[in-house]
Amino acid sequence: MDLKKCIEGKLGKEIRLADNKEIYYALLALVKEMCKNKEANGGSKKVYYISAEFLIGKLLSNNLINLGIFDEVRDILEENDKDLTEIEEVEPEPSLGNGGLGRLAACFMDSIATLGMNGAGIGLNYHLGLFKQVFENNKQKETKNEWIEKESWLVNTGIHFPVQFKDFTMNSTLYDIDVPGYDSGINKLHLFDVDTVDESLVKDGISFDKTEIEKNLTLFLYPDDSDKEGELLRIYQQYFMVSNGAQLILKEMDENGYDVRKMYEHVVIQINDTHPSMVIPELIRLLQERDINFDDAADIVSKTCAYTNHTILAEALEKWPIDYLAEVVPHLLPIIKKLDEKVKAKYADEAVAIIDKNNRVHMANMDIHYGFSVNGVAALHTDILKESELKAFYDIYPDKFNNKTNGITFRRWLMHCNTELSEYITSLIGPEWKKNADELEKLLEYKEDDAVLEKLLAIKTDNKKQLKKYLKETQNVDIPDDSIYDIQVKRLHEYKRQQMNALYLIYKYKEIKAGRLPKTPITMIFGAKAAPAYELAKDIIHLIICMQQLIENDDTVNPYLKVVMVENYNVTKAEKLIPACDISEQISLASKEASGTGNMKFMLNGAVTLGTMDGANVEIHDLVGKDNIYIFGKSSDEVIDLYKTSGYSSRKIYDEDEQVQELVDFIIDKKLIQIGDPANLGRLYKELINKDWFMTLLDIKEYISVKEQIMEDYEDRKEWAKKMLVNTAKAGFFSSDRTIAEYNKDIWKLN
Ligand SMILES: *Cc1c(COP(=O)(O)O)cnc(C)c1O
Repeated sequence: MDLKKCIEGKLGKEIRLADNKEIYYALLALVKEMCKNKEANGGSKKVYYISAEFLIGKLLSNNLINLGIFDEVRDILEENDKDLTEIEEVEPEPSLGNGGLGRLAACFMDSIATLGMNGAGIGLNYHLGLFKQVFENNKQKETKNEWIEKESWLVNTGIHFPVQFKDFTMNSTLYDIDVPGYDSGINKLHLFDVDTVDESLVKDGISFDKTEIEKNLTLFLYPDDSDKEGELLRIYQQYFMVSNGAQLILKEMDENGYDVRKMYEHVVIQINDTHPSMVIPELIRLLQERDINFDDAADIVSKTCAYTNHTILAEALEKWPIDYLAEVVPHLLPIIKKLDEKVKAKYADEAVAIIDKNNRVHMANMDIHYGFSVNGVAALHTDILKESELKAFYDIYPDKFNNKTNGITFRRWLMHCNTELSEYITSLIGPEWKKNADELEKLLEYKEDDAVLEKLLAIKTDNKKQLKKYLKETQNVDIPDDSIYDIQVKRLHEYKRQQMNALYLIYKYKEIKAGRLPKTPITMIFGAKAAPAYELAKDIIHLIICMQQLIENDDTVNPYLKVVMVENYNVTKAEKLIPACDISEQISLASKEASGTGNMKFMLNGAVTLGTMDGANVEIHDLVGKDNIYIFGKSSDEVIDLYKTSGYSSRKIYDEDEQVQELVDFIIDKKLIQIGDPANLGRLYKELINKDWFMTLLDIKEYISVKEQIMEDYEDRKEWAKKMLVNTAKAGFFSSDRTIAEYNKDIWKLN
């Protein structure tokens, strides 16, 4: 195939004469055509990965990589004075996810296709996404994130299903996005939508009439559920997603001539967190419509569905009031009640009931009873599920529980985002690592090779220069490329403890003010969206931006310390930040971060982790060894015990420790109050002293001292480069190809 001719054919003119926008749309059309002509992955059993989120990121470059034409296209463009990186800027990032859970689903789509597995994703096509974050008056403001253009990756399939709600029926339209595997066949991401959605319903920011279901159903991911209308809308969305999914699955079974009584021989449904849980009663209902009795239907569905648990935070495990379900999907109630009765007939323990005594339906409990597999997402997380959080279930169903430590696709998180490192690795150990990530261990042979170590440092510096340029262009901030890049980017949540990092920032500010200067300047980069109704999370963002401003305007401090709060953290920004990082902040309160996947991306790109023994950090620690990671903080056992005994008092630590007191008090220092909003800063201050549910003050002192150590160790550039090398070399385990191979071996059993 003559690629240049193909591109120019799509353009209708010479590449040289086209602008970036025209070239982007030509490449979009070309890639879509190539996907259409490529063979689909097949097999007699298929996995359907149902998820409320797919945080897929921009697709052009990754699709070019997976189709094996990235280098050729880049070179053709270059020969015609065009730059693929600039052309990528034209592509809008799909706003179909929120954070780690959605990004995991996207990495899994890539790996399932790459491993040639027969699989598909099922989700919703949110028109305005989660939200776009902008900063105004040093605070987060939410605006709609419009991303769908006339020409896009979405393909209207012309497939429609009726979805029945209490008083009305809505018709869906199915859009597909092709997912080409790396040097493999094609799978589909199925996104359901409704034609009646009306974006003009959205007035100020992201507020809209939550009762107009026909117009609002697929406007936003996770609409605000702090009132009843919001909760009902989420139930509408979830049922719409799973009813469409279930109908699609049965349609494909019929087309293949499979017997629905043997559904589990041809279909496995992976339920990603509790949002798709209603697929269980919905499938039972649809099977009953096909004259299968209730018990048989429940049995068939139970052998088909598997559940992934993503969190042990109680507030995140969905419990819908039964009256709300009655308002939206009354036809599911008799089924859910029967499922609950069967459980209650066998087990007296309230903890395992589906419907509790307050008439709330515990979605996770339904998944565990009526699915054949329950998995956690990192070794520690799965242990905590078995030993405490879901112990009552583990006692009943020990064989259902299994661990699948999360992973990331190296196509996006190394080959694409860090081409220089990727190409250098290939020059050292050959290209096999791209298909078998364990091959990265071969890098260890170069641990004492000075030229290699120096090259790794040089690549890091190049990436830092690029990030510096990007932040200048996008946010008009100046960061020195010879400073230490210390990065914490992830959703904002108290358990992730951005507030602890902010207290370090205050500590460092005070140190510099007192004349104790860092040997190398420090750049602290944050990026985080806060849930719109999560006040404290927004207060923490406010504190960080106020500190940024305070330091920026203080000439005695700013040569040594910089703070950048990156606006609207998303996949595109992650791809620019992660390759440039020296220190990866993974500082969640032990036991609270189920896995984390950001930690893996940073490690792969040669950042050194500063973290707690939480989630997959534990596995990173075990892989790289204690010399190549910086660990601090109380253990998960200690933390779980503190919760059990109510043994933690932040007030006590505050009262008894003068240094801690000074740091916390600075939040309401007049210097900050002048810049910021006293109400927000005051609320955060009081929270830290009086409650501090995620135990910031428990670990703050050790955090500061270990962070001082990591900064000190950064000075020995050669030793640091060895740590970088070991981190990249040991990251192979975290390839989502490994994770997906395990899902298949233990759960899906595709042939
Ligand atoms: C990987 C990723 C996350 C998850 O980060 P964690 O540190 O694991 O919470 C969130 N958002 C984006 C855009 C990501 O790429």
